Amino acid sequence: MTTNPNEPFRDGRIALSLAGEIAAASAGRRYKIMEICGTHTMSISRNGIRSLLPENVELVSGPGCPVCVTAQGDIDLFFDIIDKGASVVTFGDLLKIPGSDGRTLSSARAAGADVRVVYSPLDALKHAEAEPDKNFVFLGVGFETTAPAIAFLAKTAMEKGLKNLSVLSLCKTMPEVISVLLKDPELKLDGFLCPGHVTAVTGISLYEGVAASGKAAVVAGFEPVEILDAVLEIVRRVNSGDFRIVNKYKRVVSDGGSPAARAMLDEVFLPETVSWRGLGMLMGSGLRFRDEYAPWDAKKVFGLESRPVDEIKGCKCGSVLTGKIRPDECPLFGRACTAETPVGPCMVSSEGTCAAYYKFIR
Ligand code: SF4
Repeated sequence: MTTNPNEPFRDGRIALSLAGEIAAASAGRRYKIMEICGTHTMSISRNGIRSLLPENVELVSGPGCPVCVTAQGDIDLFFDIIDKGASVVTFGDLLKIPGSDGRTLSSARAAGADVRVVYSPLDALKHAEAEPDKNFVFLGVGFETTAPAIAFLAKTAMEKGLKNLSVLSLCKTMPEVISVLLKDPELKLDGFLCPGHVTAVTGISLYEGVAASGKAAVVAGFEPVEILDAVLEIVRRVNSGDFRIVNKYKRVVSDGGSPAARAMLDEVFLPETVSWRGLGMLMGSGLRFRDEYAPWDAKKVFGLESRPVDEIKGCKCGSVLTGKIRPDECPLFGRACTAETPVGPCMVSSEGTCAAYYKFIR
């Protein structure tokens, strides 16, 4: 944080003042608030937000990292694609995620597989167009934030008639997982720090179920002052019993979200029931391609089927992702599992809760 007046969202004095207001407003009660966005998780840890809060205001991390919630059986599909001789195009976040056989995309690349890192899904087009003799598969992992760009990639490949590019859709959506978290009797949440990026697509109606359950839903930006301001708002909402959804990130997120992005999702995808790490099968929580996209659907092109496999032995990512334990309550944390020797995706991913704890809190 700074004291630079040009950076009000990072101003340490404002942050301390908000922390004081939170302490005063929360006195006499416990509050449990979940952030469901990996970017929030990282910002909270990086900026020491927990250390500014009173002991009775607890922030727990939820399933907000799309890489971390991808089921092990789906991760294994990456290596099925490689074994079928295709070239993989991926975001860098996936490079070190271990498959069930111990391989990672990084180790597979070192062993000779063609694995290419891109910053945008559309970059996959350049590879496919430049090398028509090779078969490319883009690994599509993401929530509503990234899914429209992945849908656009498939739509563009279709429009260009590209025959050597397909997309593995492992995209997921938030409404179902929020319902599950709301009903979890162990969690007993008071409210959610809602993800700004996802809300920029879905709009705040995504949280109607939260409000209807008598819990607070506040959409927050990612800077420390914005997060503390949202925590204060949640405390106030709980105190007042007025659970209307609050958008505190209006500089980026409109209440209605992005109709164009949602139209892109509807045009290309249909909902499907998929497995989440730590949460099991959630009805309608995944996005599969519509039938007309079959020639660009990697699952159909390569006959891929996710196999039910055990989670990584000893790894408690499932419990971390659902806010049941903190990373340092996993017996492997900081011992067998470190940033240098990660065991599970929550330590590998740049937005993973274990990675955030290891880097900033340990
Ligand atoms: S510390 Fe490592 S092994 Fe433990 S839950 Fe996190 S990623 Fe899994």
